Amino acid sequence: MKILITNDDGIAAPGLWALVEELRSIAEVVVVAPDREQSGVGTSVTLHQPLRVRPVKPIVAGIEAYVVEGTPADSIIIALKMLLKDKMDLVVCGINEGSNLGTDVLISGTVGAAFQAYFYGLPAIAISVASFDNLHFEVASRICGLLAQQLAAGKLPPRLLLNINLPNLPLDQIAGIEITELGERSYTDAVKRGGVKAGHDGKRDYYWIVHGEPQSKEDKGTDVWALRHKRISITPIHHDLTSHEQLASLEGVCSSLSQELSSSRLG
Ligand code: MN
Repeated sequence: MKILITNDDGIAAPGLWALVEELRSIAEVVVVAPDREQSGVGTSVTLHQPLRVRPVKPIVAGIEAYVVEGTPADSIIIALKMLLKDKMDLVVCGINEGSNLGTDVLISGTVGAAFQAYFYGLPAIAISVASFDNLHFEVASRICGLLAQQLAAGKLPPRLLLNINLPNLPLDQIAGIEITELGERSYTDAVKRGGVKAGHDGKRDYYWIVHGEPQSKEDKGTDVWALRHKRISITPIHHDLTSHEQLASLEGVCSSLSQELSSSRLG
C-alpha cells in the first residue's frame, strides 16, 4: 500500500510526522507538504506564480519528503501529477491542529487538500484534533492506520472522502466514535484594525479578519454534536454543493425569468 501525506500546517508540523510514524508500519509513505502554515486556504490553487518544489530531510528518518512553496491543494497536484511515479492508494491530510467542523470544511486547507485528491479519484482522509495546545495525536494516527488497513482489505468504498475530527483527549477519555453529518457552525467573523501603531503601515490602514466565537447548532448526529460529547466524528463528504431540495421550487423562477427576458429589450 502507498500513502501520500500532506497537511495545511506546514511540513514541520508535529501532527504530520505523527501520522508518518504510524502509517509507515503498514504502508510505503511519501510526504509532500507546504513549506509553511496554510490554514484557511481551502481548495485554493496557485495559478499566478511559479511553484517551487524541493526534496527535504525528513523529520522521521528514511521517509521520502518534499516541500512545496504553495498551498495544500498545490502539494497534492504536484505530488500526483509530477513527483510520484507510482499510483497512491490513499491520501491523508493532517493531523491538523484545530477542528474542521461543519461549514469550516469550505475554508479548511486540510479538507481542501483531501478534496483535491478526491477529485483525482483517490480515497482521501482529512483528520483534525480539536485543540491548539498539548495535542494528543496518538488516537488520530491510530484511527488513520486502522482505516488504511480497512481500505486495503476492501472494506471501505474506493471513492471516499472522510472528514475526521477528534476531541483532544487520551483514548480512555474518548466516549465513542460516530458517523456524522456536517453540522452548522458560523463564526461571527470580525475585522480588526490591526496591530501595533493603530493598524497603519505608514501609508494606509490595514486590517485582520479574525474568527469570533463559533456559534454552533447542537443537532444530534452532527460532527459538532459528536465533538461536544467527547466523541470521534467521521463524516463522509462529497463535492456536490447543489441544493437538491430547491431544484424543484426554483423551476417557477426559470419560467418567469424566460418570460420577462423575452419581453424585455436588451442592449
Ligand atoms: Mn491547519
